[in-house]
Amino acid sequence: MCEFCTQHGEGKIWYLRLENYLEERLATDEQRQFPQNLYENLENWAAHSWAAVNAVDDPGELVKIGFEEMKKEHYGQILPLEDVEKIFDMSLNMIRIPCPCRLALHGVKEHRSCYHVVATPSNFWKNMFDQWPDISAELDVVTVEEAKKDFQKFDEAGLIHSVWSFGSPFLGALCNCTPMDCLSMRGLFYGGQRPFFKAEYVAAIDAEKCIGCRECMTFCHFGAITYSSSSEKCMVRQMTCFGCGLCRTACPNDAITLLDRNAIPVLVNEW
Ligand code: SF4
Ligand code: SF4
Ligand code: SF4
Repeated sequence: MCEFCTQHGEGKIWYLRLENYLEERLATDEQRQFPQNLYENLENWAAHSWAAVNAVDDPGELVKIGFEEMKKEHYGQILPLEDVEKIFDMSLNMIRIPCPCRLALHGVKEHRSCYHVVATPSNFWKNMFDQWPDISAELDVVTVEEAKKDFQKFDEAGLIHSVWSFGSPFLGALCNCTPMDCLSMRGLFYGGQRPFFKAEYVAAIDAEKCIGCRECMTFCHFGAITYSSSSEKCMVRQMTCFGCGLCRTACPNDAITLLDRNAIPVLVNEW
């Protein structure tokens, strides 16, 4: 299990514990202040992210991103669609906002891929965003069924799902991203940092079913699938796989399954 399952999951997957979506999880003033600070400082985050893209000349800039610090404040984990749906089934209040990363990085306002959830009837997120008219005017209150349908579309479009803490272990956001659109993913892809854990799963291809079409490769943002011209089949490099499950969505022949990462000895410490 990942570090957070051990710390905050009581032996289970941390993001599937209802308690971690309760507002009461924000125990300290510092934790309660964190979501506020994050949204107030989004432009600075974007600046760091651009620094990461251009980091070759100034690697010191990367250190400022401070992903170890993020574990205490804002840290994520990749997860497949079926686990997203389990989270929605636990959520009482859910809002959808235009993606702040895409807004900060590209000036795109319309991409509604960022969901905030809370498992209390308190409207925690809606109340917080009410401070910023630009965001509150754009947010939608969505039902569980609407959210599930949206995520199915995101999955088919090849967007990686992730879940995020805000003052760990309080969990509050579910996101749909690509490496070039997401501030955190830029840290991984261009900064050599790890702003989120790999999923609790890892993909495996059934060679008997694989027809070698390579559709799975086009959906894998992590470069974890290779093609063999001699066998005319694909295979997953499990040390590289983040367990997002998108290759499974792309496969026309149901050749891909997700396995429990914890059940594969070489991957037990690979998060
Ligand atoms: S993590 Fe993804 S969906 Fe969430 S705000 Fe960033 S890019 Fe948008
Ligand atoms: S191999 Fe599949 S599950 Fe693994 S990272 Fe690539 S797309 Fe995601
Ligand atoms: S998409 Fe499925 S059938 Fe096609 S190469 Fe990948 S695993 Fe094989």
